[in-house]
Amino acid sequence: MLFGNCLCGSVRWRYLGAFDLMTHCHCGMCRKAHGTAFATYVMGVRDGFAYTAGEDSITCYESSPGFIRSFCHHCGSVLPNTHLGERFAAPAGGFDGDLGISCAGHIFAKWKAPWHPITDRLPQHDNYPGAAAPAVVRAPPAPATAGVLGGSCLCGSVAYEVTGGFKIVHNCHCLRCRKARAAAHCTNGLTAIENLRLIRGEAQLVNYRLPGARYFAQIFCARCGSPMPRVDRERNFVIVPFGSLDDAPVNGAHDHIFVGSKSSWYPITDSLPQFEGPSR
Ligand SMILES: [Zn+2]
Ligand SMILES: [Zn+2]
Ligand SMILES: [Zn+2]
Repeated sequence: MLFGNCLCGSVRWRYLGAFDLMTHCHCGMCRKAHGTAFATYVMGVRDGFAYTAGEDSITCYESSPGFIRSFCHHCGSVLPNTHLGERFAAPAGGFDGDLGISCAGHIFAKWKAPWHPITDRLPQHDNYPGAAAPAVVRAPPAPATAGVLGGSCLCGSVAYEVTGGFKIVHNCHCLRCRKARAAAHCTNGLTAIENLRLIRGEAQLVNYRLPGARYFAQIFCARCGSPMPRVDRERNFVIVPFGSLDDAPVNGAHDHIFVGSKSSWYPITDSLPQFEGPSR
């Protein structure tokens, strides 16, 4: 039996049985929904899955016709997809422990974020293997013009601009980030507060502050759950989830941090520096 939960713990679930497929999805919708470079999904049969708590905390968003995504409306974590008939798919990052499966390959690889190189040797598919028709995906971010990077949530309610580039970009593997993004790791860029301009949707933003955490919080769109930039006034910077960017930044991650708590199912195959805890 495998167990999972969202970041705040309101929504809990279990899965009985074995998963039969794990893939890394690089589609633009997963990038925005998770706020990450890619999302990792495990699949199995719907019968094995059950929510054990918090079903009243689930908000659904139809990201393309007939495709329902779910998230916890308290903390923003992406939740399992229970709207696939007899099949079941869930973001691997929401589960605890060893999932008993390793990744079979990358899907929608053609649409991957330009700032994220794929460095493992797994097969790369441009679409969903065996899919009858091309799935709905968003084009990869266009190169930025004049140093202004646009960003938005999946439903488009919230949009922002960042100027001036990023001081540093981390792939963070801490448990909080993995649960918050329901992914292998987040990719977050840090920039000065004055570099961020919210264009629309401020009223749509939900700010979840993790009890007991000194700084950790997750800001997300109330309608679609996409993680959005978070202004940290105490530390005087903005944390931008790279998956929400519509334009390509000059560079991607500089390092991997908190690799001491990374997931068992995601091997790091690039040559970026790795830090057990925070960097430097
Ligand atoms: Zn939650
Ligand atoms: Zn996807
Ligand atoms: Zn939204």
